Amino acid sequence: MKTRFLRFVGFFVGIGLLIAVSHSLYAQSPITVQRDGLDDSGYPRRVTFRLDVDAPAEITQATLHYDVSKVSCLDGGATVPVTIEGDTLQWTWEMVRSGNPPPGTAVTWSWTLTDADGHTLTTPPQTHTFSDNRYNWRTVEADNLKLHWYEGNVGPTLLDAAVHGLERLENEMGIELQDEVNLFIYGDTADMRDAVLYIQDWAGGVAFSEYNVILMGIPPSLANTWGQDVVPHELAHLVVAQYGRSCVGGSRPNWLEEGLAVYAEGDPSPDVRAAIERGIANNSFEPLRSLNGAFSAHGTEAGVAYSQSYSTVAYLLETYGREPLQQIILTLAAGKSTDAALEEVYGFNVDGLELEWRAHMGLPPRDIPPTPTPINPAAIPTIVPEGLPASLPTPPAAAATAVPLTNAPAANPGICNVGLVPLLLVGLLFTRRRRD
Ligand SMILES: [Zn+2]
Repeated sequence: MKTRFLRFVGFFVGIGLLIAVSHSLYAQSPITVQRDGLDDSGYPRRVTFRLDVDAPAEITQATLHYDVSKVSCLDGGATVPVTIEGDTLQWTWEMVRSGNPPPGTAVTWSWTLTDADGHTLTTPPQTHTFSDNRYNWRTVEADNLKLHWYEGNVGPTLLDAAVHGLERLENEMGIELQDEVNLFIYGDTADMRDAVLYIQDWAGGVAFSEYNVILMGIPPSLANTWGQDVVPHELAHLVVAQYGRSCVGGSRPNWLEEGLAVYAEGDPSPDVRAAIERGIANNSFEPLRSLNGAFSAHGTEAGVAYSQSYSTVAYLLETYGREPLQQIILTLAAGKSTDAALEEVYGFNVDGLELEWRAHMGLPPRDIPPTPTPINPAAIPTIVPEGLPASLPTPPAAAATAVPLTNAPAANPGICNVGLVPLLLVGLLFTRRRRD
């Protein structure tokens, strides 16, 4: 008993001694930091971390650890060995290779140095927020929303649109924003594209859901028309992505993803209403199952797909309420297939939902093959390099009539490809009418 007690005491004495020795080594470390900074003049192509030290003994080993602020299923951060050149240590992050984190992202770093005498120094963490320094940004804020812009006076009106979109998501669906979002509104799409490496050259807006950042190109002349729809639409994609984040490969069917985003825009636009009326009159709606994956690349068909998706989501919400809608997002995030999740929450699969919705719209039942081909968005985990957008970009307003329309990959349901084209056209028409 006594021996055990002594061992017990000895263990703690030993630990105490170790701590004391390492503490004194650290405290006596003769290495002192002169300057610890980050040069971001090359952002978004590259940034350079630089540390100047005063070290009496030669620095023999140095590593840099850096981490960007993002929500990820994998533990982030990277540790890189650094070549030592005297008392200056520097390491350049070539974003041209990795893709860049978007403006608004914070990076935190710390250096660990060892000298020839065995002294070690770990520098206190430093933080820097990447920003697009080409413009003089102005900022307006609301709860958990920061909207930055530099051209015209579009900030307040676009922030209003964002706040109303969030209110609709919260009040009508019970889906709340989890973390602060930064929206950067560029004066045009070309300016915006220069802030992001590897972005499609027709992109007009892009949501980085892992970073809680949205970049959009909205000319001041479209802020009160197209901007009022596209801001809540993109924000809804980001909020739903936060709410339904999946680390097990779960994904949402496109009709749910886009239906929620169009719903967040508010009362359906004349264009959405007209597409629904046309669909009813011509009995021309798509099988809902086919809208699990990517929408058609063609403008008119895509418009119908977005309108049908909106109508289906509105039906679910108005008929069954908001709790099952929240539940379906969470069940899909847990990795269930669309059919299995719908069965679990509502008691019907995609075809059953389509039949109910068609009856509600006054349409005859569609002949559904007895053994439907499952066309679920494949739960294939996509490896996205650092900084690449999590969803495909929105076409720009200015290029609405000349966008090379690209089909989105079926594996990624958080996609916004061409459905906004009708909205863009409406926006342009309104603008032109106002000028007339
Ligand atoms: Zn969308």
